[in-house]
Amino acid sequence: MSAVTSDELNVYKSAEARFEIAAKKLNLEEGIYSYLKYPSKEITVYIPIARDNGKVEVFTGYRVLHSSIRGPGKGGIRFAPDVSIDEVRALAAWMTWKCAVVNIPFGGAKGGVICDPTKLSKNELERITRRYTAELSEWFGPERDVPAPDIGTNEQTMAWVMDTYSMHVRQATTAVVTGKPLELGGSQGRKEATGRGLMMCCDNALAKLKMKREGCRVIIQGFGNVGSQAAILMQEAGYKIIGVADIHGGLYNDKGFDVPKLVDWVYGQRKPLPEFPGGGDKQTAQEVLFHPTDILVPAATENQITSGNANRVECKILCEGANGPTTSHADKIIEDKGIFIIPDILGNAGGVTVSYFEWVQDRQGFFWRESEVNERLQDVMDQSFEQVVRYAETHGVNNRIAAYIVAIDRVARALKLRGIYA
Ligand code: GLU
Repeated sequence: MSAVTSDELNVYKSAEARFEIAAKKLNLEEGIYSYLKYPSKEITVYIPIARDNGKVEVFTGYRVLHSSIRGPGKGGIRFAPDVSIDEVRALAAWMTWKCAVVNIPFGGAKGGVICDPTKLSKNELERITRRYTAELSEWFGPERDVPAPDIGTNEQTMAWVMDTYSMHVRQATTAVVTGKPLELGGSQGRKEATGRGLMMCCDNALAKLKMKREGCRVIIQGFGNVGSQAAILMQEAGYKIIGVADIHGGLYNDKGFDVPKLVDWVYGQRKPLPEFPGGGDKQTAQEVLFHPTDILVPAATENQITSGNANRVECKILCEGANGPTTSHADKIIEDKGIFIIPDILGNAGGVTVSYFEWVQDRQGFFWRESEVNERLQDVMDQSFEQVVRYAETHGVNNRIAAYIVAIDRVARALKLRGIYA
C-alpha cells in the first residue's frame, strides 16, 4: 500500500475526482462541465478585531459561492484553525450537490474563518462574526446566499449574523441565515436535523439489506452536534451505540453506551469524552473506526478514511455524517469490500433540508410543529435515498457516484433551461 499523499488529503481534489467520474458517465458537454466544476465567486476577507486585551488582530475569512443555478447559495460558516480556501471551495461544491440530491431549491456556498474558537472569548467570537458578516453584507441575503452553522459555529453565531445583516439593511431579516435560535425565527427540529437525517438513511439502508434496528451495532466518530444527536436518536430507536469519539479520543464498549449519560458527561458536566466513567476502552479517535460493526458513522471531519486505512474498516453500512470523511482514493477499497455506502451529500443532507424549511417558515412568517418538520424531512430523505439507490442499481455504479449523478444532472438541466447570460 502506498503512503497517503497530500494530494489525497486535498478535499478539493477529492470532490473534483468524484465530480469527474459522474460528469463522464453523464456525458456532460465540455462547457457545461467547466461551468459546474468551478465556483461562481470567491472572496477573501480580512477581519480586524480588538482582542479582549485591547490588541488588534487580523483574521482571514472566506466565502465561496459555488452555484446559484437552482436558487440562492446555501451553506455553513466554519470557524477552525485549519480552514483553507481549497477546503471552503470543496465544501461549497458539496453544498451544491447536496441541495440538488435532496431537490431543495438552493445552490451551494460555504464560508470559513481561520481561527480557533476554543481560544477566543465569546465577545471576541461575536466581533469576528459581526465583522465577517458586515464585510459580506452585499453577498448575503435571503435570495442571494444564506449561511448556516458548521464546525465551530452555532445558534448564537447565527443570531449575530442575523442581527448584523439586519442592521445593515435596516430591517429585521430572519431568512438571511438558518440554524438560528427558535426565538429568532429558527425552526423546530433544526438542531437534531442532521442526526435525524442520518438515522433515516440508516433505516432505509437496513430495510434494503434486510437487517433489523434492534441491537444493530453503530460506531459514531465525532460528538459535536451531528454525532451526539445521531447517537441520542439512534439509541432511542433501538440501535446499539458501541463506539464513540471526539477530539479528545475514542471509547469502545461492545455492550453499548448509555447515551443520555454520555451526553450529560460531555455537554452537562463539560468533561472529556474518553474519561466517561460509564464503561468502555479508551483509544484514539481513529481507532474506533476499525472495530467490526454494522454501521459506521464518521461524523467528525474530513479525511478520516484514506487509502492508508480503508482496508481496516469492517462495517456493513458506512453512513457519512461529516463532509468528505472518506478520500476519493479510498472509494474503490470501500466499494471492493462490499460496504453499502451512504455518501455525505445524502447522509448529512438532513441539516440543510431543515435549513430550507427554516427559510420557508421565515419567509412566510408561519411556523410549523416539530412533528410537521420531521414528517417533511422523512419524505425528503426517503425519496432521495430511493432515487440514489435506484440509480446506482440500474446503472451499476456505487451509491456515491449515483448521488453525484442525480445531483449534477439536476443542476445541468436547470442550467440549460436558464441558458448562459451574456
Ligand atoms: N453545515 C451544514 C452542512 O454542511 C448545514 C448547511 C446549511 O444548513 O446550510 O450541510
